[in-house]
Amino acid sequence: MRVGIGYDVHKFGTTGTLVLGGVRFPDQPRLIAHSDGDAVMHALADALLGAAALGDIGEHFPDTDDQWRDADSARILGEAVRLARDEAGLAPVNADVNIVAERPRLGEAKAQMRDRLAAILALPPSSVSVKARTAEGLGPVGRGEAVEVHAVVLMDRVG
Ligand code: MG
Repeated sequence: MRVGIGYDVHKFGTTGTLVLGGVRFPDQPRLIAHSDGDAVMHALADALLGAAALGDIGEHFPDTDDQWRDADSARILGEAVRLARDEAGLAPVNADVNIVAERPRLGEAKAQMRDRLAAILALPPSSVSVKARTAEGLGPVGRGEAVEVHAVVLMDRVG
């Protein structure tokens, strides 16, 4: 068994479509990034790469690469799953994601995110957890300027 940790933070920008955990929130400040800014996908991808000791997403998906400009970050997570399997012989067992954001309200979206992430990780939804909390008004996240995501994944040998 191997464990990996991932973290990401993105600043809010102008109003558009916010993408978080593969769920789209129209008419919300979007996250500023080279890709679609989906910090949930990025943190989880980094956790997978970490468990497999394959470096980080900055090395595999550089923001100098036009391939990832405005990219659907589900592709980044899917590619991390493939790398972990093909390069390290590892597949996810379970994942836990913690989103820290003042907005938007994530209530029902958490279950949608869980289903989306589970599909990409090839896991049952019961093996994927998506939690959310605010920063209690503290710091840049508390002031609603950014979103932070922490992720942990457990992986085991394929087959
Ligand atoms: Mg990111």
